[in-house]
Formats: sequence, structure tokens, C-alpha cells
Amino acid sequence: MGRIPDEIIQQVLDRVDIVDLVGRHLTLKKSGRNYLGLCPFHGEKTPSFNVNPERNSFYCFGCQKGGSAFTFLMEMENLTFPEAVRTLGRECGVEIPEGDGPRRSDTEQLYRANEIAQAQYRSGLTTPGNPGLAYLAQRGIDEEQIAQFEIGFVPDRWDTVANALRAEGISPEIGTQAGLLIERQSSAGNSNDRSSGHYDRLRGRVTFPIRDVRGRIIGFGGRAIGEDQQPKYLNTPETPLFRKREALYGYPNALPAMRGEGRAVIVEGYFDQIALCRAGVGSAVATCGTALTPEHARDLQRRTREVVLLFDGDNAGQNALVKALTILLPHGLRVRAVTLPENDDPDTFLTREGPAALENLVATAPEALNRVIERATARGHNTAWEKVDAVTEVAELLALVGNAVERGDYVSRLAMAVGTDVPSVNAVIRAQRTGEDPREAMPAVPRKLSSAEAADERNLTNLIRSLIEYPGLIDRIPRDEMSALLPDGAAQEVAAALHARSGTGAIDLDPFCDRLSAPAATMVRKIAVANDELDEPRASQIFDDMIRWLRKRQRRQKSAEFQDQLRRAGHDWRPVLETRGNLSSDLSPDLSPDLSPDLKPDIEPQPNASSSSTEHPT
Ligand SMILES: [Zn+2]
Repeated sequence: MGRIPDEIIQQVLDRVDIVDLVGRHLTLKKSGRNYLGLCPFHGEKTPSFNVNPERNSFYCFGCQKGGSAFTFLMEMENLTFPEAVRTLGRECGVEIPEGDGPRRSDTEQLYRANEIAQAQYRSGLTTPGNPGLAYLAQRGIDEEQIAQFEIGFVPDRWDTVANALRAEGISPEIGTQAGLLIERQSSAGNSNDRSSGHYDRLRGRVTFPIRDVRGRIIGFGGRAIGEDQQPKYLNTPETPLFRKREALYGYPNALPAMRGEGRAVIVEGYFDQIALCRAGVGSAVATCGTALTPEHARDLQRRTREVVLLFDGDNAGQNALVKALTILLPHGLRVRAVTLPENDDPDTFLTREGPAALENLVATAPEALNRVIERATARGHNTAWEKVDAVTEVAELLALVGNAVERGDYVSRLAMAVGTDVPSVNAVIRAQRTGEDPREAMPAVPRKLSSAEAADERNLTNLIRSLIEYPGLIDRIPRDEMSALLPDGAAQEVAAALHARSGTGAIDLDPFCDRLSAPAATMVRKIAVANDELDEPRASQIFDDMIRWLRKRQRRQKSAEFQDQLRRAGHDWRPVLETRGNLSSDLSPDLSPDLSPDLKPDIEPQPNASSSSTEHPT
């Protein structure tokens, strides 16, 4: 594996504009020294995702993800580190030497395997008289659409893909890892085994390539063409590239339409997605063998505000709608619902009614919550009990609507539909909310700190901040004293790492953080995106103030311990006093037994210190 030299990595990092890179994936607003946006890695409605152009780094206060431009790209697009370096290098014109061996990273080989398979599948459909073509024709899909949607066919033989991969120097193991091949059981009794121990997973099926937002093939969907072929749909299994819970069929073609139409249309199958495209609805994407997941919702939330769902008019379809709402509403998405005639799906509807009718159904789709209100009240709302049932059913969903204005509007509609008043509906929603709140399935809010703990944390953060910005300050305090002064934890670890570092120049954030534990790295990254400037005299002042505070804090703790020991020692106090003698010798004289051991949060003004020291860092 060709290692990329460090100086090349640094060169790329120096040239990359992290604000520009991140800005391609989310909207950023300038805020002080930083840029601020909605985090792409966790669901949130108020921005806590910071990009700091000076430090070339990002940090999210919500989910605590942070790092360099490379880290961002790796997370965002599922790349390995060398892939991220190469991608950015290509963009900013830094030439990166190719590794000399043919061994590419596994991930790259998996993508490559998928491309080779796709070429095979496509050509499988061009051989005259193949059954795949006949099947597609019968479903109303012509050659032009086959080309447009890149539909393929896997002949019902054993080794088409295995052979093609081998010809390109890709091992069957990679093919298996990509989900293209299945290893044959050796005890199959197949005496004339022709060297290949692998067969095509999707053989005898029509195939649909599933791509990620960048257009790379991550997996395939396969539809059986014979009545007796089971199962009807077979997808690539979970692989390092294909994650069902995240994948959406229709990317990346649907992206421009999503932006243009301001919505995404979600369907459940490949043919349904194609039907919508044929009806002129380009923003359609399909889940790949799973119901909508929170991962999908998070992805959609970054690209659009409105989601249109298509469901059967039957009970199962309506229950599926409620389920989808519980996934989508907590992400602040507005949801519309198309109800298709019973036993119809978009594909059959298109065939019978034509493209304009399908397009119109989507364009005029009512708000999904109104649909739910209608359905709940349709079961009757004459008796008090019926009213309670109807309100409770809908309130579960209304409790998920984050926007108060929007929620209020639905509440009055529900109240009116059921024949009750707004306060009663609100009371039910409140009850729903104080129970298990499904919206808090998102990152946990940190435990609230007591005011003393909060002050400790604030002071420690200030201390570390002065050190991160001006690492030379660390030399003012010997290593051992520093580590004794600091409580166990992140700050102590960071200080030790600073002491251990050679040189006192500016800190290189990524390599520095790599050597730290997760909490300590988090602390440093958080501090690195701090918004206000810190000049050197002030950093120096903060550092000194904080050391003074730490010393005082230590004295108080020792004093408290000492009193505790006295109390417990009873009459046998001699050894305790001897300890005290030791303490007194190396600590200042305010160790009187009546000293109140309470811990004042911030440092007190120092009457004898320089005049500028009264301003407390916060
Ligand atoms: Zn986040």
C-alpha cells in the first residue's frame, strides 16, 4: 500500500479551503471567527456545527465530531484516509504519487468490483433474446429507459461476474465482500468443479445499480423475472459500502430535482422510483429493502424541507404512513402523503392512468398530518371515549412537531375535527411529551452541572485554552506540579501532552489530538474553534490567574481532608498533626482549622496583582 508522504498531506491541507469544502454539503453562516451550520452528522435544528478556517478544522458541539478537512470528507463520503487525501489533492492540484503496487485499498477495490459487475449486468441485457429484456418490455420499460436507468440482467449461469472480476485482477474474496458473489458449499457434489468456488448472487435477475450521492455504485437491487423465483427482490447484503439503513435508490440523479422542486418523493421499490421519473417526478428516491430509518431522515433533512410519501389506501398502507411520520417529523421535515387507490402502486397506477395523472397526484398531495386527523376522526367522535381515542392517536404525532406555530395549527384542526377544545388537545400532547420523548433519541444532553462544577469546568477550559493558543506558557509550571494541581481528567491529560511535546511553536491540531484520549481530544477541538480572539498578554494573564486558582483549590481540598482526618482520628491525633506539619511547610499559611472548605467558583480579585487582572475570564 503506497503510503502518502507527510509533507504531501500537509501540502494538501494547506491548500484546501475547509469552509468551501464543508459549504458544499451544508449551508454555513459566518459567525465571528467561525462559520456555523446544521451538523450533517446528527439531527439538529439549531446549528452547533462550527468550522474554523484559521485552524482548518471543524467541531460539532452537539455530537462532538471534529477534525480536519480529511476527517470531514472521510465521514461524509465514507472514504478511507488516503482516498480523502487523494480526492482533495486532485481538487487543489497537489500531485500525489501513486502507490507502486497494484494493491489498492479494499474500499477502492470494492467500488471497482461493483463497476465491473455493472458492466457485465448491462451487457447481459444486450444479448438478443435474453429473458430479462422480455420481462422489462412486459413491464412497459423500453430500451431508452433501460439505458437511462442503467438496468441490467444477470444470465442464469454461475460464474459470469467471478470470471470478469478475475480478468481484471480482483479476487473472488473481494467479490464476495462486495456482495456480488456467494461462496459455493464444497459438498455440493459437483464433481466437475471448474475451479471457481463462487457464484453470482443475482443470477437470473434484472438488476438496478444503487449509487451514493457521489455516483459510486454501492450495491445492486435484483428483481426476479420468473414467477417461481424466490425471493421476488434480492439486494446486495450489508457490505462495507452498502448500508441498507442509509441507502436510497435514485441518487445522485434525484439531487438536482430535489433542489429544484424543494421536495423529495419517497417510494419503496425500484420500479416505483422509475415510474415516478417517467411521470416527470425527478426527485423520487426509493428505500432499498427497508422501511424509512432515522438515517434516511437525517440525510433528507440536509437536502430538502419537504417529503412526499406514497402509500396504499388500505390499512397496512395507512399504518406505514404513521410509522414513517414518527421517523420524519422529529427531523423537522414537512410531510405530504399521496394515497393511491387500493391495490395500486406507482408503477401500476402509471401504466393504467398515465404519467400526467401520477404527476398530478404527487403535486397535489395533502399534508400527511391532515390525512391522519381525517382517518382518526372517521372512526367516530361522538362519545367522550371516541374523542379521547382520536385525540390520543394523533397527539402522539403532533408531539413530534418541533415548530410551535405548525403544531398549534394542527392542534386547532384536530380540536375542531373531533369537537373538543384546544386546551384539552394540548393537555394530551403535554402528557405525551413528559412520557418517553421520542425526539430525544438524538444525542444526549449532557447532565446539568452544579454551579461549582460548572465554574471548575469553565476555569479549566480557560486554562487549557490559553495553553492551546500559546503553548509556550506551559513552561512556567513544572510538569509534576501541574499534574498534581489539575484534577484527573481531560485537562490534566492535555497539559501532560503539552509538556511532553517538543518545541513550543503552534500546535498542529490533528496530530496532537490523535495522541489524546477521546474526551481530551474533544476538549482541545472544542477550544480550537472558540470564537473570540485571545491575544498573548491576556492569555498569559489567564494562565497565571488559573494557576493561582488551582493552588488555592488544592489548599482548600487538603485542608478539608485534614479536618476530616482530625475528626476521625478522635484522641489519637498525633500522626495527623505530623502530617499537618508537612503540609504547612510547603503551603501558604491560610491553613487554619476554621477555614471554610467551600469552593468558590471563580477566582477572587487579587488586590496585590496587576491592575488588569480583575476581569474574569468566562
Ligand atoms: Zn453534530
